[in-house]
Amino acid sequence: MTGETPKRVDMEKIVSLCRRRGFIFPSSEIYGGLSSCWDYGPLGVELKRNIKEAWWQAEVQQRDDVVGLDTSILMHPRVWEASGHIKGFADPLVECKRCHLRWRADDLNSDKCPTCGGELTEPRQFNLMFKTFMGPVEEKASTIYLRPETAQGMFVNFQNVTNTTRKKLPFGIAQIGKSFRNEITTGNFVFRSREFEQMEIEFFVKPGTDEEWFNYWTEERLNWYVKLGIKKENLKLRPHTRDELAHYARACYDIDYLFPMGWAELEGIANRGDFDLVQHASLSGKTIDYFDDETKERFVPYIIEPSAGVDRSLLAFLCDAYDEEPDKEEIRVVLRFHPGIAPIKVAVLPLSRKEQPVALAREIYADLRQQWSVTYDIAQSIGRRYRRQDEIGTPFCVTVDFQSLEDNQVTIRERDTMNQIRVPISELKTTLQAKLKGEELFVLPPGGKIWKEER
Ligand code: ATP
Repeated sequence: MTGETPKRVDMEKIVSLCRRRGFIFPSSEIYGGLSSCWDYGPLGVELKRNIKEAWWQAEVQQRDDVVGLDTSILMHPRVWEASGHIKGFADPLVECKRCHLRWRADDLNSDKCPTCGGELTEPRQFNLMFKTFMGPVEEKASTIYLRPETAQGMFVNFQNVTNTTRKKLPFGIAQIGKSFRNEITTGNFVFRSREFEQMEIEFFVKPGTDEEWFNYWTEERLNWYVKLGIKKENLKLRPHTRDELAHYARACYDIDYLFPMGWAELEGIANRGDFDLVQHASLSGKTIDYFDDETKERFVPYIIEPSAGVDRSLLAFLCDAYDEEPDKEEIRVVLRFHPGIAPIKVAVLPLSRKEQPVALAREIYADLRQQWSVTYDIAQSIGRRYRRQDEIGTPFCVTVDFQSLEDNQVTIRERDTMNQIRVPISELKTTLQAKLKGEELFVLPPGGKIWKEER
């Protein structure tokens, strides 16, 4: 949000770290991979769950004006007629007459093929929805689509939700789920893939209050990223110009993030007016509206929609957290994740392989695991084990040594500062709890001391 040019990380480094440490693998890799599809590994799945959980907590659990929903991926085909997707969810496709590669015309800044310089065909509209067939007969009448967004499931359930929850305006419906788009050009790792996850809110308001709520949600969503540790200078708001606005939108802001390839959309916030509910009422023949008890008015609500991508957020959290520090002759690679996002919260590391410290370490590990995702590592030197945890963003390491057997104390080592502190085992959980909440790091307990890790 400032004029300076912030530091950008190399995408290659992120891709290589993700693969090496088990965050993200290419899909169906043993068969040569499947273009633009990705598998989340043991650490990736934890990171992704934490992002979705943080979103759900902030936007559903901690609010009394938003309820959740989980709708099906396959929907009645008329949904996509009403939404305008069958007619209009298309990108202009051009093909090289020489090498036959296909491109999105609006992504190109020349009229020759970027790969071989060949002549391109005239653009034709290419619909991005994946088609499939419902039931055993593969014919036009049984054609259905994989949803290209989660939003429509919420619009068509508007009346079900108001009837069953008795929610009064303004209120919202939230959903997290998979969406599918047969994108012409994919790439930039998980930034643009053909199968991805979205976190969307449809917030229903009285017409006339829509601008105020549009601004409210823009600020709320921007701050969600900042509270979870994304640097402000790597975020910016970009209003859509008149020409860019989607057919349903009255106004739209993109939250752009400074990805390794440059500024690009992380989330879109749109004022959709009454377009969606009016369309679904018209095509389904059902009444979809809202009765205001106080004013005795009946009207169709307007909708404000913050629509975020789980995979793009995950990529932004990874890029933002990535840091390198000189460390003797080597480089210390650290993912400085916010503790709430970090895939593993604590690593328990015994300093000796002898029976007694190992038994104590395993006891501590079993206890901490009741509360957090915790790992246990006994292999290699302690320095190497710390570096392995730094590289995956584990905020705290707990080491158990021979002295622990006598004084019932363990050492907590902090990822970012590499400071270490000795705490009684009886206070370990409460100390970690406070630290993981991001409360004052390293408050000294009576008699405790802080020292720097030997480097
Ligand atoms: P773009 O202009 O980058 O194609 P869009 O404007 O079509 O994106 P929306 O329809 O607004 O995207 O979707 C909302 C969010 O869903 C996006 O901000 C993004 O985070 C995510 N998203 C959309 N398409 C993809 C994709 N192909 N891969 C990963 N995430 C996506």
